[in-house]
Amino acid sequence: MAPRVTQTTASIDRGPGAGLGTPLQYLKGVGPRRAALLEKKGLATVEDALFFVPLRHEDRTRFTPLSALQPGDVRTVTGIVAGIAPPPPGRPRVPLKVTLRDERGLASAVFFNARYLTRVLKRGQRVILHGRVGRDYGAITLQHPEWEIVEPDDDERVHSGRLVPIYSLTEGLTQRPLRALLWRIVEDYAAKIPEVLPESVLERRKLIGLDRAIHDVHFPESEAALAAGRRRLTFDDFLFLQLGLAILKSRTTRTRGVAMRPRGALVARLLSGLPFRLTGAQERVWDEIRRDMAAPWPMHRLLQGDVGSGKTIVAALAVLTAIEAGYQAAVMAPTEILAEQHFMTFHQLLEPLGVRVTLLTSALTPRDRAARRAALAAGEIECVVGTHALVQKGVGLKRLGLAIVDEQHRFGVEQRARLKALGEHPDVLVMTATPIPRTLALTLHGDLDVSVLDELPPGRRPVITKARTEIGRAKIYDFIRAQVGAGRQAYVVYPLVEESETLDLKAATDMARHLEQDIFPDLTVGLLHGRLRFEEKESIMRRFKAGAIQVLVSTTVIEVGVDVPNASVMVIEHAERFGLSQLHQLRGRVGRGPWASYCILLHGTRLGDDAQRRIDAMVATNDGFKIAEADLALRGPGEFFGTRQSGLPEFRVADLLRDGAVLEEARRDAETIVAGDPDLRTPAHRGLREMLLARWRGKIGLASVG
Ligand code: ADP
Ligand code: MG
Repeated sequence: MAPRVTQTTASIDRGPGAGLGTPLQYLKGVGPRRAALLEKKGLATVEDALFFVPLRHEDRTRFTPLSALQPGDVRTVTGIVAGIAPPPPGRPRVPLKVTLRDERGLASAVFFNARYLTRVLKRGQRVILHGRVGRDYGAITLQHPEWEIVEPDDDERVHSGRLVPIYSLTEGLTQRPLRALLWRIVEDYAAKIPEVLPESVLERRKLIGLDRAIHDVHFPESEAALAAGRRRLTFDDFLFLQLGLAILKSRTTRTRGVAMRPRGALVARLLSGLPFRLTGAQERVWDEIRRDMAAPWPMHRLLQGDVGSGKTIVAALAVLTAIEAGYQAAVMAPTEILAEQHFMTFHQLLEPLGVRVTLLTSALTPRDRAARRAALAAGEIECVVGTHALVQKGVGLKRLGLAIVDEQHRFGVEQRARLKALGEHPDVLVMTATPIPRTLALTLHGDLDVSVLDELPPGRRPVITKARTEIGRAKIYDFIRAQVGAGRQAYVVYPLVEESETLDLKAATDMARHLEQDIFPDLTVGLLHGRLRFEEKESIMRRFKAGAIQVLVSTTVIEVGVDVPNASVMVIEHAERFGLSQLHQLRGRVGRGPWASYCILLHGTRLGDDAQRRIDAMVATNDGFKIAEADLALRGPGEFFGTRQSGLPEFRVADLLRDGAVLEEARRDAETIVAGDPDLRTPAHRGLREMLLARWRGKIGLASVG
């Protein structure tokens, strides 16, 4: 295949797109050293630089006089360096102090770990500082501000008297020269950026042109111009994501799959054997899934539901439907332990109906694995539960009709694709216990249809959650004893398995022994962790389920999937070390029976801000959606979604939390565009097409335009 020539590198010197592919090194004033630094920031070409959006802007039309600074403010000031006091020798913790003077006053600034500044700053120099104002022994002081030295030959149109862009830096790359470079690039090239959006979209959404937008997100004339520029780039971020997802989705619905319409005998038998009736939400969601499975195109559906909402039963109904229609079903889970637990559940539910279920993980002996693979390939086993081992080379299923993926946010687009490739257009059901707000679901799962289990089985009571420190330990033990006395059971969860000197954790193993010998000698204490063999884990789980173990000490292996309704207490040790969604998952292990249930978060005394917020959020709410929102706000979308893992294009400007309304507009436009022109072949969509291919970096193929 010939290398793909992008519009920019192919273009000649004139006309739209001219010179955008020029390597930065060829620009005046950029030598090999600077080019290497820029490269570190991902900036190789003029085009990269144009899309290198500033972190923020500083209004330098007016500086705050030094005499007007108030503690608590974040301000930008300018002044002359009047004195520099480095930390005394041997006391590196003492900050370096700089005294600053302007026409009417004095102020100081302190810098931590910044001895190097003695080599950089000189008395008499003019500097610009930006940062938070505090007090230092009573004196007004800027705390570790960002700084710039004003050089006499600088172009002051660029660095002050305007909204000034502040860029993300890297060691060796300083703000002023970088800003000066971007100024030149924006002046020389922004106007040459070709428009990619169709005229109709620009008009409908009242968006400014891309050339103008790029100019204004760097060097705006006003706040309004900056906002309009950012809005345009935000729209593009969302549109290209949604376009790609819409194209993927339209392909699914245009593919022929298998229509599964069995009589439903197996489903009926399972339902009649259950000790409960499906909730309204389960009925509705099952109906959506059943219809998808019966339709002649592949199902591609996301099932979202909080912990304990009853996803497993719904999944089992889908599995039975595929099997009765003559197909095999595969269930893929992200971890060994979760795969094992799903296996136990499915085994328990399906085996009585004559369905053969097997487990496939990398923990199996080669011989076992080979035997199970052979049985699957021969079609002798109808249902397989497994980890990534399922999509490794050498696994073949005779007639895969349904693939279920649990805990989707840990899987990437590509793994999902590989699972699908095990069969010929099987139905795919993705299940997640991380309920996410609708707009966010559309972003991450825009290529899926979404079903939501928004109702918990009846009789559930919210789990009463308390945060406690070490002082409360004895009382917690009394409480566990009282609960066990009333017939209930308890979990005690630890973050690690073995004592680690570095982290100084009380390991689960030690604790189990301590609880058994010193605290609850009259009770049965069990220990569950990931390094046990499958049979051992299964036996402990079985004994806990049967009530033979009253207190189960465990590592986070029980995070997902464990289901013992009689357990009413969950104690989480070192709760500050767990992520928010993990805490919520753990808490979901209790509150499954008709009794009041409790979650006790044991934590250290000095918590970081984020740890405190996580614990506060847990105490404040049981609602998975609210927890997910708090988690998202704390970690940011990139980490929350694992954007890299997910294989989706990254945003340049857009912020999922802030820009939901723009996302909705972009999604509607993307759907309209793809409905009318699924391969973006028309001339009006030429720009869209180029940009889409670039942003998705080969993850989306489009039939070539003749
Ligand atoms: P999830 O996987 O969504 O966290 P599970 O499928 O593990 O939830 O279900 C949690 C518990 O609720 C299980 O004990 C299950 O048997 C029970 N359950 C599921 N559906 C219902 C229902 N409709 N009524 C009562 N209990 C239910
Ligand atoms: Mg589950």
